[in-house]
Amino acid sequence: MPLTLHDTLSRKPKAILPMDGQTLRFYCCGPTVYGPAHIGNFRTFVAQDVFRRVVEKGGTPTRHIRNLTDVDDKTIRDSQKAGQSLIDFTRFWTQKFHADCQSLNLLPPHVEPSAVAHIPHQIRMIETLIERGHAYAAADGSVYFKVASFADYGRLSHLEDRELKLGASATAGAVDHDEYEKDSLADFALWKARRSEDGPNYWPSPWGEGRPGWHLECSAMALEYLGEDFDVHSGGIDLIFPHHENEIAQSCCSTHGHFARHWFHVTHLMVDGGKMSKSLGNLYTLSDLEKRGYSAAEVRYVLISGHYRAPLNFTFHSLDAARQALQKLAKFDKALQERGCPALPTTQGRSPGPFADAWEILNDDLNVPGALGSIFATLNKTKPASLSLDEAQAVHSGLHFMLESLGLKLPTLSQDTAAEIPAEIADLAERRWLAKNAKDWPTADSLRKELESLGWLIKDNKDGYQILPK
Ligand code: AMP
Ligand code: ZN
Repeated sequence: MPLTLHDTLSRKPKAILPMDGQTLRFYCCGPTVYGPAHIGNFRTFVAQDVFRRVVEKGGTPTRHIRNLTDVDDKTIRDSQKAGQSLIDFTRFWTQKFHADCQSLNLLPPHVEPSAVAHIPHQIRMIETLIERGHAYAAADGSVYFKVASFADYGRLSHLEDRELKLGASATAGAVDHDEYEKDSLADFALWKARRSEDGPNYWPSPWGEGRPGWHLECSAMALEYLGEDFDVHSGGIDLIFPHHENEIAQSCCSTHGHFARHWFHVTHLMVDGGKMSKSLGNLYTLSDLEKRGYSAAEVRYVLISGHYRAPLNFTFHSLDAARQALQKLAKFDKALQERGCPALPTTQGRSPGPFADAWEILNDDLNVPGALGSIFATLNKTKPASLSLDEAQAVHSGLHFMLESLGLKLPTLSQDTAAEIPAEIADLAERRWLAKNAKDWPTADSLRKELESLGWLIKDNKDGYQILPK
């Protein structure tokens, strides 16, 4: 039963099978290292990590490449503001990114190439594009990709549905900034001639001093590390247009291959209904949340708890719920150990056993929320103390198989009351919270009274609530 995954290009679910019959080759657009990655960025990286884990657990090895964008408009601008060399500035933010990845239990990619370390590769690709008539040098020494020369331009983002025609590029002209308006169909920069605001950040090329355009690096590095054709390419949905459209154009026109066969895009993490982004100033980093007392495992749980194709709204309430869920898993695991299972199962990583339903759900378009629901349904109907040792070991090994597939590490069991809240109480509290959010005050009040009569108090805060013993 191979994993099926929605493909942006064909708009259909497709089986994930390596085209060489052996190793699944997988490229992810990596972070722009000019500041801390926010948890929106990590939603995408964590979804890609779950994808890789599920493929590997399903028995297929992967070759995972994720680049570092360490030269572009933003890294150059902010390194100069900070009075640092581009290399020192981006190294600092790369290290911070790696530390966050480790805390969030992300498997490191097999290769993490940087754009600055691949300037010659990018220059070679531009030369080929010019030779083949897909690019042209402008008078100032910049080089542009000629969008009208590639008949397939726009297939990934379904430009035809947006009533944009290729002929429009003649009027839209050429753009030389890395990020440009959605729907502006224009020739884009492959090489940008040196400008005073670039400071010391320029390299020699056949067209004069300058630097590569942002879109080119992924085409050049995917070719270097995965070849002309590979299995899966991934990023957040904001990258579909123009970045991935431009990558396809560059790669298909400079090689004889078809570039990525399957496109895997992750929908955004939102805050209060808007996209979490640096420019909107509504972002949280992992450190922000750790300062508020949440663990990286709780953040990871929240990030995977929504389906990757649906927007996920970030709230502190969801972090509290993640804490409860992880405690419940840890408590169940402890009960299995008390029944005689080893701390880690000896058959670890072999099969989902009694969690076969959860595994099947997970393999259907990476449905993590569905799989978590199924895992908890199995937990609710399983009493470790009444299992035989063999049965307990099968449950234990299946549970760990699923936890590893999702990259969830169990927390130490907390001694605080949060973990001891009975399910009925948590249920009543959740219903009161929903009633309150729906402004159904009579129901909310009567549920609060009911909770009080059972010995529990509810303390509301800005984004959620706490359940405390009276
Ligand atoms: P960047 O560092 O801006 O190049 O982005 C790194 C990755 O994070 C890319 O795959 C983006 O598409 C993705 N991304 C950016 N903002 C969000 C968000 N709010 N939710 C999910 N993914 C995002
Ligand atoms: Zn890219």
